[in-house]
Amino acid sequence: MDRQPRGLALISGGLDSRLGVCVLRDAGAYMEGVCFETPFFSAASARQAAEQLRLKLHVVDFTADEIALIKHPPHGFGGAMNPCIDCHATMIRRAGELMRERGFDFVSTGEVLNQRPMSQNRQSLGVVEKDSGLKGRLVRPLSAQLLEPTIPETEGLLDRTKLLALSGRRREPQIALAAHYGLVDYPSPAGGCKLTEEAYGRKLRDLMEHEGLDDLRLVRLLNVGRRFRLPGGASVILGRDARENAILADRRAGADVLLYPPAGVVGPTALVPAYATPLTAADRAAAEQIVFAWSRGTDVAARDPFLSCQIR
Ligand code: SF4
Repeated sequence: MDRQPRGLALISGGLDSRLGVCVLRDAGAYMEGVCFETPFFSAASARQAAEQLRLKLHVVDFTADEIALIKHPPHGFGGAMNPCIDCHATMIRRAGELMRERGFDFVSTGEVLNQRPMSQNRQSLGVVEKDSGLKGRLVRPLSAQLLEPTIPETEGLLDRTKLLALSGRRREPQIALAAHYGLVDYPSPAGGCKLTEEAYGRKLRDLMEHEGLDDLRLVRLLNVGRRFRLPGGASVILGRDARENAILADRRAGADVLLYPPAGVVGPTALVPAYATPLTAADRAAAEQIVFAWSRGTDVAARDPFLSCQIR
């Protein structure tokens, strides 16, 4: 075939996804990129990668997909609240939809065979390809020569001899390739996805069990402040600095309660979202105790019983 193949690359922002684009361009493909964003991970690094590669990037809001997977992950969670197997397959499925809509020939990823023992072995790569509905149209340019030829390769659109045969966890080949392609500024392999953090996972599970995950405002607030669950069921979010205090005041909505320290006391702003049950007197008192406990120079036990937090 003599037309130029068109590929859509999943861009995480890490080095491997950047290299995948470079290798496919060397193989003659016209490439565009796709990345995903949610309250749990941003597209910032993918945007930076696209800029570096001069790559047209499609940014897809993946929030509804991710929340559905957190509620019901068919393959369960990883070490925290990260439904990685299903998340990855769903991203590839979404990329496949875009591929068909926009007339691309294939979707590509920067995956390297056996780089991760569980999720990137030969069997897992095959499962993702099958589950995502992209059988034969998912190209892994960094390991392609070790995998079954894909449809663009067998049809002669993509030159298989220009694709690579990387395998395993060693990073030296990628670092050498980065130098070859002049990629000097790229992030380390570590994630950036909040769902993989245990502490964040505990907060997310608590929210899911009490208020649920349908109110995105509350999901986004998981990135702000210290959180406490009160005996009557209400939650309290406490600002950790002036910036977070301002965010909490700004995000207040509806019948939420905002608590400030009494006049003359320096301390945090607290947001009590109006959810679950109405704020009980006991929970209101407990929320005030918490604000006092985190205020400067206050002694909760000896606190003047007539001194109340200001409520707005
Ligand atoms: S680390 Fe986060 S974004 Fe990546 S596959 Fe897992 S859940 Fe999805």
